[in-house]
Amino acid sequence: MSTSLPKAGPAPKVGIVSLGCPKALVDSERILTRLRAEGYEISPSYAGADAVIVNTCGFLDSAKKESLDAIGEALKENGRVIVTGCMGGDADAIRAAHPGVLAVTGPHQYEAVVGAVHEAVPPVHDPFVDLVPPEGLRLTPRHYAYLKISEGCNNRCSFCIIPGLRGDLVSRPVSSVLREAERLAVAGVKELLVISQDTSAYGVDLKYAEGDWYGRKVRARFADLCRELAEFDVWVRLHYVYPYPHVDEVIGLMAEGRILPYLDIPFQHASPTVLKAMRRPAAQDKTLDRLQRWRRECPPLALRSTFIVGFPGETEEEFQVLLDWLKEAQLDRVGCFKYEPVEGAAANALPGAVPEEVKQERWERFMETQKAISAARLKEKVGYTLGVLIDEVDEDGAIGRSYADAPEIDGSVFLNGETGVKPGDLVDVVIENSDEYDLWGSIERVE
Ligand code: SF4
Repeated sequence: MSTSLPKAGPAPKVGIVSLGCPKALVDSERILTRLRAEGYEISPSYAGADAVIVNTCGFLDSAKKESLDAIGEALKENGRVIVTGCMGGDADAIRAAHPGVLAVTGPHQYEAVVGAVHEAVPPVHDPFVDLVPPEGLRLTPRHYAYLKISEGCNNRCSFCIIPGLRGDLVSRPVSSVLREAERLAVAGVKELLVISQDTSAYGVDLKYAEGDWYGRKVRARFADLCRELAEFDVWVRLHYVYPYPHVDEVIGLMAEGRILPYLDIPFQHASPTVLKAMRRPAAQDKTLDRLQRWRRECPPLALRSTFIVGFPGETEEEFQVLLDWLKEAQLDRVGCFKYEPVEGAAANALPGAVPEEVKQERWERFMETQKAISAARLKEKVGYTLGVLIDEVDEDGAIGRSYADAPEIDGSVFLNGETGVKPGDLVDVVIENSDEYDLWGSIERVE
């Protein structure tokens, strides 16, 4: 007797274009995981897809333009387009530019996006196939994954519309975050990148409620979460942390080598006047002292930050305060943006708009200053051995990252001629050379 399973029809195929920040990438991953679970296939091309989801970014006007262009391209190449993500909050603007889109949903409206896909391309049910690996589907390479611990933000920075788009801080329960981290680690992920809008505020909205973790109680609190994540024996990298006093607690974990000695802190400026106009959280006056204290406690600590130049009302004097601060802070990695008025942001109403050419000139001076700092800091690493996580390998060699380099935003470690490794390997590398952004080295060979 033969047993044959009923055959399902061909699987419907959905393409996805994911724009914007790592947080948007996590949203795309969740949507895809859900669709795969329902039997959809993911198409890598416009041509092979029955419909295309465009996950948009609406943070800056330039990002909005990029989003509208991406929607236009998807419409031209495929014709059946569902829009989601931050810019989805502004459905009128999208429909005005592209009346042909099938549906528009806002950020984190997973149910609505999936519902729109059902309508555009009905699912084929095949109960005999388990389509989703237990760790879910990820768009990042197998060996690193973003771990989103909360949505929204309680701050009200005057240049930012994220609280308007995403609402106040909503932290995930601590056991749910730990379960996801555990699943990822078991699935072979070597590096967890902890993200949110304000990572150090994690759990404030939950009043630090305890969660159950293998019979123990763990508080939904930034430092407690970091301590638990350190147990998974993978690299743990913290993004979007504000220099609140309680961050001191995680520096100890870094000094003990339990989580990566790396902090991504978006300072945005250093002049107290500009910071006040920006309505930034965490007063800046004691920040330099705090950074110095952290470095004394954990000397390898790598600090990354982003800044905005040309904010309304920024005078030459205030810009100079920023440059002096930068020289003193000696940050390892820095990104800099010229201020852009984002539609709907309170800062647009501020007087003293800075002319474009002045913004450009300040941006260039800022980058020049930081380039010299970065080059000097990288040079100090020559001659030392660093653990390097391999990202890519081809016939010329391998490219990886040290603890000081987050994927996509920081530098790389180039291992020319090292072809005997594979992505996800963690190797000890003797650093031989450096420039302003990257390092070069060879795998340490023990005689
Ligand atoms: S901290 Fe400020 S810039 Fe960051 S998401 Fe919240 S409001 Fe926006």
